[in-house]
Amino acid sequence: MFNDKILAGLMNWYLISGLDETTGEEAINRFDTLDSEEIRIQDAECQPQVLKKELQSKYMNDNNDEIKKTSIEPGVEAATKLALGAQTVEQLIAQLQQFDGCALKRTATNLVFIDGNIEAPLLFIGEAPGAEEDKSGQPFVGPSGKLLDAILESVGLDRTKVLISNTVFWRPPGNRTPTLLETAVCLPFIQRLIELVCPKIIVTLGGPAAKSLLNQPDGVSRIRGQWFDYKTPNLKQKIPTLVMFHPAYLLRSPYQKRLAWHDIRAIARRLEQITN
Ligand code: URA
Repeated sequence: MFNDKILAGLMNWYLISGLDETTGEEAINRFDTLDSEEIRIQDAECQPQVLKKELQSKYMNDNNDEIKKTSIEPGVEAATKLALGAQTVEQLIAQLQQFDGCALKRTATNLVFIDGNIEAPLLFIGEAPGAEEDKSGQPFVGPSGKLLDAILESVGLDRTKVLISNTVFWRPPGNRTPTLLETAVCLPFIQRLIELVCPKIIVTLGGPAAKSLLNQPDGVSRIRGQWFDYKTPNLKQKIPTLVMFHPAYLLRSPYQKRLAWHDIRAIARRLEQITN
């Protein structure tokens, strides 16, 4: 199973994770117990209830309930209509380019939607583009992207074998967290992308992607490493979806890279089971 390229990727990942010294003669596999943990699968109907509820309570608490409420819905409705009208990924990109319902578009330089292979069995979904992504129009090309590449290489994957996208497709100014509304208007496009490319496995990177896509109110620390079943009305089958930490978080908290290593191996194993 291991060839030189995978071994080189693995060694690089070890180094990045701080494993730069041998401490004994015998290798101890401390993941044995973790790997045999029973996989917990939960249903994640794609209806964005969590976002919807939060959006409603946020805006309904303000004085002018009805005006605020109706000003939310049209953006999401327009996005849904455009997204569902796309029958190919190219059409979906064209629809996104003409979509003006996300305020982030006004301050961003480029649309940052997908990178990688649209026929790949694995789809990774991050949070939002940063400065380098905004400049290039490609997701995950900055420091987080470099770490993501190293994670992929540690199990013999690269961007020819995966597809990468985001929860919102324009850079939030100053890298602030996208608002609920910005996330809600982008969601129909990511749902449609999933329907069109039909990946075998989805991986959400970080809390915002898990919350938006999987309808999960819990923080990412609670649900990372868990498998969910993702489904939309237009998908024939449920898609197994794993929650991982975001690479930006791993850069700030290197200690957690051990869990990312556990997760990427679980993904590689599951992919092997599905595709063989
Ligand atoms: N972080 C993300 O979530 N997405 C990118 O494209 C870049 C950094």
